[in-house]
Amino acid sequence: MRSNPCKPTRSKRGPVRLLAACLLALAVTAMLPYLVSARPAPANVIRVALASPSLGTGVSRAELVCDGGFSVGSTSADGRGFVGRSSLAGGEVRVVPADGGVSVQSADGEVLVTSGADEALSLRSAGGSLTLRCGGKEYVCPGFLEFRAVGGALQVVNAVERETYVKCVMSTEIGGAASRETRRAFSVLIRTVPMGQKHASYGFDVCGTTCCQVYRGIFRQNEENDAIVDSTAGEYVTYEGAPIHCLYHGGNGGASCSSVAAWGGPEIPYLKSVSLPEDADNASEVWRYEFTQSELFDFLSSRSRFNGIRDGVESVRIEETDPDGSGYVTLLSVTDGDNNVFEIATSEKVRTALRFQSANFTVSYSMDAAVAVAGGEVEQVAVTRYVGADGETHEFESFADCPVAGTDAVADVDRIAFDGVGSGHGVGFSAVGAEQLVDQGYSYKYLLQFYFPGTQISKLA
Ligand SMILES: [Zn+2]
Repeated sequence: MRSNPCKPTRSKRGPVRLLAACLLALAVTAMLPYLVSARPAPANVIRVALASPSLGTGVSRAELVCDGGFSVGSTSADGRGFVGRSSLAGGEVRVVPADGGVSVQSADGEVLVTSGADEALSLRSAGGSLTLRCGGKEYVCPGFLEFRAVGGALQVVNAVERETYVKCVMSTEIGGAASRETRRAFSVLIRTVPMGQKHASYGFDVCGTTCCQVYRGIFRQNEENDAIVDSTAGEYVTYEGAPIHCLYHGGNGGASCSSVAAWGGPEIPYLKSVSLPEDADNASEVWRYEFTQSELFDFLSSRSRFNGIRDGVESVRIEETDPDGSGYVTLLSVTDGDNNVFEIATSEKVRTALRFQSANFTVSYSMDAAVAVAGGEVEQVAVTRYVGADGETHEFESFADCPVAGTDAVADVDRIAFDGVGSGHGVGFSAVGAEQLVDQGYSYKYLLQFYFPGTQISKLA
């Protein structure tokens, strides 16, 4: 889960039921062109980037270990098949960029195989498991590995059979905590995500991080999840015959966020807001951050989106929310001590600017005031409203001083609170909501069609 965005009073109300799925697809970048692009027919082999200079994750070298030896060759023209040419003895080798291509070397630096300039080189196990170490991670890789030099760094792609890929991602993203029907739904979603071809322009389908789905090769697999994947083999979600763009999140508090609210762009019929009140006891995240005025300034000035902000922040205001009614904040304004106004549009930009769990929050101001309570006692309590000169009760809307009803005095509004629900972008499938539907007896197919209205379940051969 993301780190706390700030130190001041963070309280969680209600137990947190964390599915590993909460981590999925939290960071979706360049969403608009990706969402509206055309896609080819689904493939039976998935190309997963484990290192990519194009995504800023290129590496200078990769190490491979396979006791049974290596088959060395190239990738077929469609990018999905391995074409063997030679073999190497078992043990450890390393792959590095060399003269525009790549070079396979022994552990002591002897050059064993090289590719031509701008050519890729592929390796797979000739017997036994193949372990890859690159970028500080270790993977036991099914399928084959393709290495290519891109701008002087190494791109590493693991081409893996589709159903094996789904089982591998189930182990990293879902684990075994959720119900069987929710895990069945996730297996269908995980299968559908690479069909979105998010990174096709870079020569692979998906990356192995939360940007797409976390993939660590063969990793903590368990037989129960494998059987769940087998029970949905080949199934994926379509809209008007094409694979949908699968988006999912931990929880949303009661209504999913529309894609338009999250990223702007044209409306996507199956990514509109869907309402399902989420039980507070089962909420993935119910959170609160509270600041004094000076703490708020420190917090905002530590965020790059607020570069140049001046002390004495006057207000944070929610100007607009999701037109679908989900509550996600789509336009936020911050007015600093010099009356400079910072405006942030779309809920994902609001969430990433503040680094909150979600953009589904409200803002309230309060002051400590002496209030008469029962028995004639006077207590200091947090007051969030005042009675104006018009005799009506109003919420505080800024740090501006507030008139004290019935007197000529003013009092300081000294705190601001952000009360939020949910985690992640809030678009599409909710892990928390799914569990509630399962508790009511619904199947995984119902869950998918509930959160992606108007879609169908299709099946690959
Ligand atoms: Zn990605």
